Amino acid sequence: MYALRKLRDELGMDVHVVERGEDVGGTWYWNRYPGARCDAESIFYSYSFDADLQQEWTWTERFATQPEILDYCRHVADRFDLRRDITFGDSVVGAVFDESDDRWTVRLESGGVRRARFLVTAVGCLAASPRVPDVPGLDDFAGATYHTGRWPHEGVDFTGLRVAVIGTGSSGIQVIPEIAKQAAALTVFQRTPSYSVPARNRVFAEDEIARLKREYPALRAEARQTGGGSVLPLPPGKAGDLSPEQQRAELRKRWELGGPGYMFAFADSMVDEKANAVAADFVREQIREIVRDQDVARLLCPTTYPIGAKRICVDTDYYATYNRDNVTLVDVSGSPIERVTPKGLEVGGHVHEVDAIVFATGYDAMTGPLLQLGLRGVGGRTLAEKWAAGPRTYLGLATADFPNLFMITAPGSPSVLTNMVASAEQHVDWIAAHLEALRAAGATRVEAEVEAEDAWVEQVNTAASFTLFPQGNSWYIGANVPGKPRVFMPYVGGYALYGQQIDEVARDGYRGFRRNAVLEKGERPGG
Ligand code: NAP
Repeated sequence: MYALRKLRDELGMDVHVVERGEDVGGTWYWNRYPGARCDAESIFYSYSFDADLQQEWTWTERFATQPEILDYCRHVADRFDLRRDITFGDSVVGAVFDESDDRWTVRLESGGVRRARFLVTAVGCLAASPRVPDVPGLDDFAGATYHTGRWPHEGVDFTGLRVAVIGTGSSGIQVIPEIAKQAAALTVFQRTPSYSVPARNRVFAEDEIARLKREYPALRAEARQTGGGSVLPLPPGKAGDLSPEQQRAELRKRWELGGPGYMFAFADSMVDEKANAVAADFVREQIREIVRDQDVARLLCPTTYPIGAKRICVDTDYYATYNRDNVTLVDVSGSPIERVTPKGLEVGGHVHEVDAIVFATGYDAMTGPLLQLGLRGVGGRTLAEKWAAGPRTYLGLATADFPNLFMITAPGSPSVLTNMVASAEQHVDWIAAHLEALRAAGATRVEAEVEAEDAWVEQVNTAASFTLFPQGNSWYIGANVPGKPRVFMPYVGGYALYGQQIDEVARDGYRGFRRNAVLEKGERPGG
């Protein structure tokens, strides 16, 4: 939405957006499951590009709910009159770069075709590609099945039903407490426990949100200097600089404060195993304290990977939900779900009978949404062929041999390790400035150089190798999709440092990009 606003209204370009959903909102359009809520704070997880928009919208809670974020997206679409340039309810099924005239030909599911000089992908990192595990017998199941990322718009009433939830990542952790309140019985199938910290969400008092709005310019400026694109309390130092008592006090303070800031208790939480272990131990301690049945608590305690190496979860009453009489935890780490029968899920020869199954089983993350576009670059080569051994990008913004293609929050950029709205704005601003420079130069073709891309990929890999991130079998690394190449995909450099790096590239005349010569007189480059 910001790309449309910026390129159309500020740069005067002809822009057309294709959107699979029937309305704006992206991930917040699809993820309507009960409990869906952002784990970045609402005042930062919102656009900063327009001061008036910022002042006129009033967030009601510290962590906004899915319906409120969707309302916000609709408001933005209306306010800037965006819908007139969006085709809704259609999908891109193929896009081919035509070298004879430096244009993309984009094919739509409806049969429509669009031609464009430049193609910008804004497909997100997770939303377009929900995964349902390949468990035999799924079609035989007599009850209803759902995926958190494709939740029915009319909602689901689980009253009186026996429900299974498969998956305990961020989505599972949000949906489980809500279904538990409604269903007759809830059985959770857990393969890997997550580390989860309490959100401690709250409704904003009127004077608090008024104060935050007054402080917005300073807050946004401060957020731009951070690694994550949101202002969180700074760590007091490395774990080793603190006594065990000081470490505990810091962790306790952050646990009570709630939210993902827990991960920043120590400056070295994600690079030093000992520091990480202190933060992880504290969470396990809380789990054992909250959950009454110690056998269940033991299963809920993650032990096989560092905290943060799979994305930290933020919850409301998740662990306490296992104290309810109607909730059962089934550990499938050693003995997987063997099959789905008409009546339920079979594990270790025993069928757990249920009326409905909720898949909170995640996504073919980061590369999935891009590969689904069916992109073909120079010589007809597909992106899937180019990325067969893992994604390769220059700056997470472009990929060699795919000219005139820019990608918002693609692999190789900080993306999912940051506040996605801030990172999307950062990318749109950079892409817009680049397109403007191309227009000014009269260039019709631009592409990343292979050498620049190779060096960037190397830098992204090296940076990750200094951290504990690659130690989790997470979607960050493609480990959740059988057969997917294992490459740590986001850039750990963080929002602010990465911003400086891409700005330097721009200042150096878009170093690492090659563009063609000047246009014939009268031709328009920017269409
Ligand atoms: P996810 O983090 O990939 O979690 C998927 C879960 O399903 C994992 O627990 C996984 O276990 C399990 N699973 C997959 N296949 C399975 C199988 N065959 N049998 C048993 N368990 C299976 O997906 P997600 O929870 O949808 O979250 C994805 C990302 O979306 C998050 O990390 C976050 O970035 C974003 N998100 C954000 C929010 C928020 O802002 N609050 C909410 C939801 C999602 P394994 O770990 O063993 O693979």
